[in-house]
Amino acid sequence: IGARLAEPCEFTLRAYINGRIDLTQAEAVRDLIDATTLYQARVAAQQLEGSVSRRIRPIKEQMLELIALLEAGIDFAEDDISVASSDEILRRLEPIRSGVRDLLQSFEAGKLVHQGFTLAVAGRPNVGKSSLFNRLLEQDRAIVTEIPGTTRDLVSEATSIEGIPVKLVDTAGIRESKDLVETLGIERSYQAMADADLTLLVVDLSRDITNEDKLLFEKLQDRKPILVGNKCDLGRRNCDFKDLLPVSALTGEGVLCLQEAILRRLAPDGLVRPESGSITSIRHQALLRDSLGALDNTRKAVEFQIPHEMLLLDLYAALRPIDAVTGATTADDILNRIFSTFCIGK
Ligand code: GDP
Repeated sequence: IGARLAEPCEFTLRAYINGRIDLTQAEAVRDLIDATTLYQARVAAQQLEGSVSRRIRPIKEQMLELIALLEAGIDFAEDDISVASSDEILRRLEPIRSGVRDLLQSFEAGKLVHQGFTLAVAGRPNVGKSSLFNRLLEQDRAIVTEIPGTTRDLVSEATSIEGIPVKLVDTAGIRESKDLVETLGIERSYQAMADADLTLLVVDLSRDITNEDKLLFEKLQDRKPILVGNKCDLGRRNCDFKDLLPVSALTGEGVLCLQEAILRRLAPDGLVRPESGSITSIRHQALLRDSLGALDNTRKAVEFQIPHEMLLLDLYAALRPIDAVTGATTADDILNRIFSTFCIGK
Protein backbone atom coordinates (compact mmCIF):
# COMPACT_ATOMS: atom_id res chain seq x y z
CA ILE A 1 0.00 0.00 0.00
CA GLY A 2 1.29 3.45 -0.84
CA ALA A 3 4.21 2.09 -2.82
CA ARG A 4 5.30 4.02 -5.89
CA LEU A 5 8.13 4.13 -8.34
CA ALA A 6 11.04 6.32 -7.35
CA GLU A 7 11.37 9.63 -9.18
CA PRO A 8 14.51 10.04 -11.27
CA CYS A 9 17.44 10.70 -8.92
CA GLU A 10 15.18 10.38 -5.89
CA PHE A 11 17.52 8.06 -4.03
CA THR A 12 20.51 10.21 -4.82
CA LEU A 13 18.64 13.33 -3.77
CA ARG A 14 17.58 11.73 -0.52
CA ALA A 15 21.08 10.48 0.19
CA TYR A 16 22.33 14.03 -0.32
CA ILE A 17 19.62 15.61 1.84
CA ASN A 18 20.26 13.07 4.58
CA GLY A 19 23.92 13.96 4.45
CA ARG A 20 25.09 10.50 3.43
CA ILE A 21 26.78 11.81 0.29
CA ASP A 22 28.00 15.26 -0.68
CA LEU A 23 27.34 17.14 -3.91
CA THR A 24 30.42 15.91 -5.76
CA GLN A 25 29.27 12.38 -5.07
CA ALA A 26 25.72 13.09 -6.17
CA GLU A 27 27.10 14.55 -9.38
CA ALA A 28 29.23 11.46 -9.83
CA VAL A 29 26.06 9.37 -9.94
CA ARG A 30 24.99 11.37 -12.97
CA ASP A 31 28.45 10.97 -14.56
CA LEU A 32 28.33 7.27 -13.94
CA ILE A 33 24.98 6.99 -15.66
CA ASP A 34 26.18 9.13 -18.57
CA ALA A 35 29.51 7.33 -18.93
CA THR A 36 30.02 6.00 -22.44
CA THR A 37 33.38 4.34 -21.86
CA LEU A 38 34.71 2.13 -19.10
CA TYR A 39 37.40 4.65 -18.26
CA GLN A 40 34.83 7.40 -17.77
CA ALA A 41 32.82 5.10 -15.56
CA ARG A 42 35.91 4.38 -13.45
CA VAL A 43 36.62 8.07 -12.91
CA ALA A 44 32.97 8.66 -11.98
CA ALA A 45 33.02 5.70 -9.60
CA GLN A 46 36.10 7.12 -7.88
CA GLN A 47 34.35 10.44 -7.51
CA LEU A 48 31.32 8.67 -6.15
CA GLU A 49 33.58 7.29 -3.44
CA GLY A 50 34.51 10.86 -2.70
CA SER A 51 37.87 11.34 -4.42
CA VAL A 52 37.18 15.01 -5.13
CA SER A 53 35.86 15.71 -1.65
CA ARG A 54 38.94 14.00 -0.23
CA ARG A 55 41.13 16.46 -2.09
CA ILE A 56 39.00 19.42 -1.09
CA ARG A 57 38.72 18.56 2.60
CA PRO A 58 42.30 19.41 3.65
CA ILE A 59 42.15 22.67 1.67
CA LYS A 60 38.97 23.63 3.44
CA GLU A 61 40.44 22.67 6.81
CA GLN A 62 43.36 25.01 6.22
CA MET A 63 41.00 27.79 5.17
CA LEU A 64 38.93 27.33 8.28
CA GLU A 65 41.99 27.43 10.48
CA LEU A 66 43.19 30.65 8.93
CA ILE A 67 39.73 32.18 9.24
CA ALA A 68 39.48 31.10 12.85
CA LEU A 69 42.89 32.57 13.57
CA LEU A 70 41.91 35.94 12.13
CA GLU A 71 38.44 35.95 13.68
CA ALA A 72 39.90 35.19 17.08
CA GLY A 73 42.39 38.02 16.69
CA ILE A 74 39.56 40.43 16.00
CA ASP A 75 36.83 39.22 18.32
CA PHE A 76 38.91 38.43 21.34
CA ALA A 77 41.70 40.95 21.08
CA GLU A 78 41.25 41.95 24.72
CA ASP A 79 41.53 38.33 25.81
CA ASP A 80 45.27 38.30 25.18
CA ILE A 81 45.16 36.58 21.87
CA SER A 82 47.84 38.02 19.67
CA VAL A 83 47.01 39.18 16.17
CA ALA A 84 48.59 37.01 13.49
CA SER A 85 51.52 38.54 11.63
CA SER A 86 51.47 39.05 7.88
CA ASP A 87 54.17 36.42 7.46
CA GLU A 88 52.14 33.92 9.41
CA ILE A 89 49.08 34.62 7.29
CA LEU A 90 51.00 34.33 4.03
CA ARG A 91 52.65 31.12 5.19
CA ARG A 92 49.22 29.61 5.84
CA LEU A 93 47.70 31.05 2.69
CA GLU A 94 50.22 29.53 0.29
CA PRO A 95 49.29 25.83 0.63
CA ILE A 96 45.63 26.78 0.31
CA ARG A 97 46.26 28.60 -2.94
CA SER A 98 48.39 25.84 -4.40
CA GLY A 99 45.78 23.27 -3.36
CA VAL A 100 43.01 25.08 -5.18
CA ARG A 101 45.28 25.71 -8.16
CA ASP A 102 46.22 22.02 -8.45
CA LEU A 103 42.61 21.01 -8.32
CA LEU A 104 41.77 23.53 -11.03
CA GLN A 105 44.56 22.15 -13.18
CA SER A 106 43.12 18.68 -12.84
CA PHE A 107 40.18 20.00 -14.81
CA GLU A 108 42.03 19.94 -18.12
CA ALA A 109 42.78 16.27 -17.64
CA GLY A 110 39.30 15.70 -16.26
CA LYS A 111 37.75 17.43 -19.23
CA LEU A 112 39.49 15.02 -21.56
CA VAL A 113 37.89 12.10 -19.75
CA HIS A 114 34.53 13.76 -19.55
CA GLN A 115 34.01 15.43 -22.88
CA GLY A 116 36.60 13.66 -24.97
CA PHE A 117 38.20 15.47 -27.86
CA THR A 118 37.73 16.17 -31.53
CA LEU A 119 40.17 14.80 -34.04
CA ALA A 120 40.17 16.05 -37.63
CA VAL A 121 41.63 13.87 -40.37
CA ALA A 122 42.99 15.98 -43.23
CA GLY A 123 44.96 15.38 -46.41
CA ARG A 124 44.64 15.67 -50.14
CA PRO A 125 42.26 13.35 -51.98
CA ASN A 126 42.98 9.64 -52.16
CA VAL A 127 45.74 9.48 -49.55
CA GLY A 128 43.47 7.22 -47.52
CA LYS A 129 41.80 9.55 -45.03
CA SER A 130 38.47 7.75 -45.08
CA SER A 131 40.19 4.40 -44.79
CA LEU A 132 42.21 5.59 -41.81
CA PHE A 133 39.10 7.13 -40.33
CA ASN A 134 37.35 3.80 -40.64
CA ARG A 135 40.34 1.97 -39.22
CA LEU A 136 40.23 4.24 -36.18
CA LEU A 137 36.51 3.63 -35.90
CA GLU A 138 36.86 -0.06 -36.70
CA GLN A 139 33.68 0.12 -38.66
CA ASP A 140 32.77 1.21 -42.15
CA ARG A 141 31.05 4.53 -41.94
CA ALA A 142 32.85 6.94 -44.24
CA ILE A 143 32.64 6.00 -47.91
CA VAL A 144 35.88 4.72 -49.40
CA THR A 145 36.24 5.37 -53.11
CA GLU A 146 38.94 5.30 -55.74
CA ILE A 147 37.88 8.55 -57.39
CA PRO A 148 39.76 11.53 -55.94
CA GLY A 149 37.67 14.21 -54.34
CA THR A 150 34.51 12.26 -53.64
CA THR A 151 34.46 12.65 -49.89
CA ARG A 152 32.79 16.01 -50.19
CA ASP A 153 31.06 16.24 -46.92
CA LEU A 154 32.30 16.12 -43.41
CA VAL A 155 31.67 12.82 -41.78
CA SER A 156 31.87 12.68 -38.06
CA GLU A 157 31.73 9.69 -35.75
CA ALA A 158 32.33 8.96 -32.11
CA THR A 159 34.82 6.37 -30.98
CA SER A 160 37.23 6.07 -28.07
CA ILE A 161 40.96 5.71 -27.56
CA GLU A 162 41.95 4.07 -24.29
CA GLY A 163 38.56 4.94 -22.89
CA ILE A 164 38.76 8.61 -23.83
CA PRO A 165 35.83 9.56 -26.06
CA VAL A 166 36.95 10.78 -29.47
CA LYS A 167 34.90 12.58 -32.03
CA LEU A 168 36.47 11.95 -35.41
CA VAL A 169 35.91 14.38 -38.23
CA ASP A 170 36.81 13.27 -41.72
CA THR A 171 37.41 16.34 -43.84
CA ALA A 172 36.62 16.61 -47.51
CA GLY A 173 39.60 15.89 -49.71
CA ILE A 174 41.28 19.22 -49.47
CA ARG A 175 42.63 20.67 -52.69
CA GLU A 176 42.18 23.82 -54.66
CA SER A 177 39.01 23.33 -56.60
CA LYS A 178 36.75 25.22 -58.99
CA ASP A 179 33.80 22.96 -58.34
CA LEU A 180 31.41 24.91 -56.13
CA VAL A 181 30.23 21.96 -54.09
CA GLU A 182 33.77 20.87 -53.47
CA THR A 183 34.85 24.37 -52.57
CA LEU A 184 32.15 24.49 -49.92
CA GLY A 185 33.36 21.16 -48.59
CA ILE A 186 36.88 22.53 -48.41
CA GLU A 187 35.74 25.62 -46.52
CA ARG A 188 34.02 23.43 -44.03
CA SER A 189 37.09 21.25 -43.68
CA TYR A 190 39.19 24.20 -42.66
CA GLN A 191 36.45 25.18 -40.25
CA ALA A 192 36.39 21.68 -38.80
CA MET A 193 40.15 21.71 -38.36
CA ALA A 194 39.98 25.07 -36.64
CA ASP A 195 37.49 23.58 -34.18
CA ALA A 196 39.32 20.31 -33.67
CA ASP A 197 41.56 19.67 -30.67
CA LEU A 198 44.02 17.88 -32.89
CA THR A 199 44.51 17.40 -36.63
CA LEU A 200 46.00 14.40 -38.38
CA LEU A 201 47.58 15.33 -41.68
CA VAL A 202 47.67 12.25 -43.88
CA VAL A 203 50.05 11.83 -46.82
CA ASP A 204 50.43 8.86 -49.16
CA LEU A 205 53.72 7.22 -48.26
CA SER A 206 53.76 5.09 -51.41
CA ARG A 207 54.02 8.14 -53.63
CA ASP A 208 56.29 11.13 -53.74
CA ILE A 209 55.19 14.02 -51.63
CA THR A 210 53.36 16.46 -53.86
CA ASN A 211 53.20 20.23 -53.80
CA GLU A 212 49.64 19.91 -52.59
CA ASP A 213 50.87 17.98 -49.54
CA LYS A 214 53.44 20.66 -48.85
CA LEU A 215 50.93 23.45 -49.27
CA LEU A 216 48.53 21.76 -46.89
CA PHE A 217 51.36 21.20 -44.43
CA GLU A 218 52.23 24.89 -44.52
CA LYS A 219 48.62 25.92 -44.10
CA LEU A 220 48.20 23.66 -41.09
CA GLN A 221 51.60 24.40 -39.57
CA ASP A 222 50.27 26.45 -36.69
CA ARG A 223 47.82 23.71 -35.74
CA LYS A 224 50.80 21.41 -35.17
CA PRO A 225 49.23 18.41 -36.88
CA ILE A 226 50.39 14.85 -36.36
CA LEU A 227 51.90 13.76 -39.67
CA VAL A 228 50.74 10.37 -40.81
CA GLY A 229 52.29 8.49 -43.74
CA ASN A 230 49.58 6.12 -44.92
CA LYS A 231 49.87 3.08 -47.22
CA CYS A 232 53.18 2.00 -45.71
CA ASP A 233 52.25 -1.52 -46.84
CA LEU A 234 53.06 -0.43 -50.41
CA GLY A 235 56.66 0.40 -49.53
CA ARG A 236 58.03 3.73 -48.49
CA ARG A 237 59.35 6.44 -50.72
CA ASN A 238 61.83 8.94 -49.49
CA CYS A 239 59.91 11.46 -47.57
CA ASP A 240 60.68 15.12 -47.01
CA PHE A 241 58.68 15.34 -43.82
CA LYS A 242 60.28 14.65 -40.49
CA ASP A 243 58.41 12.95 -37.65
CA LEU A 244 56.15 11.10 -40.02
CA LEU A 245 54.29 8.18 -38.51
CA PRO A 246 54.06 5.28 -40.95
CA VAL A 247 50.72 3.47 -40.88
CA SER A 248 48.63 1.33 -43.13
CA ALA A 249 44.90 1.83 -42.98
CA LEU A 250 44.63 -1.33 -45.06
CA THR A 251 46.54 -3.73 -42.80
CA GLY A 252 46.28 -1.83 -39.53
CA GLU A 253 50.05 -1.59 -39.17
CA GLY A 254 51.15 1.38 -37.05
CA VAL A 255 47.61 2.26 -35.96
CA LEU A 256 48.34 1.46 -32.30
CA CYS A 257 51.40 3.73 -32.42
CA LEU A 258 49.24 6.42 -33.94
CA GLN A 259 46.70 6.12 -31.14
CA GLU A 260 49.49 6.39 -28.59
CA ALA A 261 50.87 9.46 -30.34
CA ILE A 262 47.41 11.04 -30.28
CA LEU A 263 47.05 10.43 -26.55
CA ARG A 264 50.54 11.73 -25.83
CA ARG A 265 49.69 14.96 -27.59
CA LEU A 266 46.38 15.43 -25.82
CA ALA A 267 47.50 14.32 -22.37
CA PRO A 268 51.26 14.96 -22.25
CA ASP A 269 51.41 14.15 -18.54
CA GLY A 270 49.69 10.85 -19.06
CA LEU A 271 46.08 10.13 -18.37
CA VAL A 272 44.59 11.08 -15.05
CA ARG A 273 44.66 8.21 -12.69
CA PRO A 274 41.04 7.85 -11.65
CA GLU A 275 41.95 7.49 -7.97
CA SER A 276 43.68 10.88 -7.84
CA GLY A 277 40.34 12.66 -8.07
CA SER A 278 40.19 15.19 -10.85
CA ILE A 279 37.32 17.60 -11.20
CA THR A 280 35.27 16.98 -14.31
CA SER A 281 32.42 19.45 -14.15
CA ILE A 282 32.34 23.01 -15.41
CA ARG A 283 30.44 23.89 -12.26
CA HIS A 284 33.42 22.83 -10.14
CA GLN A 285 35.81 24.66 -12.41
CA ALA A 286 33.88 27.92 -12.15
CA LEU A 287 33.65 27.63 -8.36
CA LEU A 288 37.32 26.86 -7.92
CA ARG A 289 38.23 29.79 -10.16
CA ASP A 290 36.14 32.07 -7.96
CA SER A 291 37.86 30.69 -4.92
CA LEU A 292 41.33 31.15 -6.39
CA GLY A 293 40.47 34.72 -7.38
CA ALA A 294 39.41 35.50 -3.82
CA LEU A 295 42.60 33.90 -2.47
CA ASP A 296 44.67 36.07 -4.78
CA ASN A 297 42.82 39.09 -3.42
CA THR A 298 43.53 37.91 0.11
CA ARG A 299 47.22 37.72 -0.61
CA LYS A 300 47.27 41.20 -2.10
CA ALA A 301 45.36 42.50 0.90
CA VAL A 302 47.94 40.99 3.28
CA GLU A 303 50.76 42.51 1.29
CA PHE A 304 49.11 45.92 1.47
CA GLN A 305 48.59 45.53 5.25
CA ILE A 306 44.84 45.84 4.90
CA PRO A 307 42.97 45.35 8.20
CA HIS A 308 42.10 41.76 9.05
CA GLU A 309 38.38 42.45 8.93
CA MET A 310 38.80 43.05 5.22
CA LEU A 311 41.05 40.02 4.75
CA LEU A 312 38.33 37.93 6.23
CA LEU A 313 35.85 39.11 3.64
CA ASP A 314 38.18 37.79 0.93
CA LEU A 315 38.73 34.55 2.80
CA TYR A 316 35.02 33.96 3.20
CA ALA A 317 34.65 34.71 -0.50
CA ALA A 318 37.23 31.99 -1.12
CA LEU A 319 35.52 29.56 1.23
CA ARG A 320 31.98 29.91 -0.12
CA PRO A 321 32.68 28.43 -3.57
CA ILE A 322 34.62 25.57 -1.97
CA ASP A 323 31.56 24.86 0.17
CA ALA A 324 29.42 25.01 -2.93
CA VAL A 325 31.50 22.30 -4.59
CA THR A 326 30.72 19.80 -1.85
CA GLY A 327 27.48 21.44 -0.76
CA ALA A 328 28.53 21.77 2.87
CA THR A 329 27.63 24.50 5.31
CA THR A 330 30.29 25.90 7.50
CA ALA A 331 29.08 28.66 9.84
CA ASP A 332 29.12 26.46 12.95
CA ASP A 333 32.40 24.88 11.91
CA ILE A 334 34.10 28.21 12.24
CA LEU A 335 32.72 29.03 15.67
CA ASN A 336 33.50 25.54 16.91
CA ARG A 337 37.00 25.88 15.66
CA ILE A 338 37.55 29.27 17.18
CA PHE A 339 36.48 27.91 20.51
CA SER A 340 38.25 24.59 20.31
CA THR A 341 41.49 26.00 18.95
CA PHE A 342 41.77 28.84 21.36
CA CYS A 343 39.87 27.48 24.31
CA ILE A 344 38.13 30.75 24.98
CA GLY A 345 35.69 30.66 27.85
CA LYS A 346 36.26 27.05 28.99
P1 GDP B 1 40.61 9.64 -49.13
O1 GDP B 1 40.17 10.26 -50.41
O2 GDP B 1 41.84 10.33 -48.61
O3 GDP B 1 39.54 9.56 -48.09
O4 GDP B 1 41.12 8.15 -49.48
P2 GDP B 1 40.32 6.77 -49.35
O5 GDP B 1 40.27 6.35 -47.92
O6 GDP B 1 39.05 6.88 -50.09
O7 GDP B 1 41.35 5.78 -50.05
C1 GDP B 1 41.75 5.96 -51.39
C2 GDP B 1 42.26 4.66 -51.95
O8 GDP B 1 43.45 4.24 -51.27
C3 GDP B 1 41.28 3.50 -51.80
O9 GDP B 1 41.34 2.72 -52.95
C4 GDP B 1 41.81 2.74 -50.59
O10 GDP B 1 41.48 1.37 -50.66
C5 GDP B 1 43.30 2.94 -50.74
N1 GDP B 1 43.99 2.85 -49.46
C6 GDP B 1 43.71 3.56 -48.34
N2 GDP B 1 44.57 3.26 -47.34
C7 GDP B 1 45.43 2.35 -47.83
C8 GDP B 1 46.57 1.65 -47.28
O11 GDP B 1 46.98 1.80 -46.13
N3 GDP B 1 47.22 0.79 -48.11
C9 GDP B 1 46.82 0.58 -49.39
N4 GDP B 1 47.53 -0.29 -50.12
N5 GDP B 1 45.76 1.20 -49.93
C10 GDP B 1 45.07 2.09 -49.18
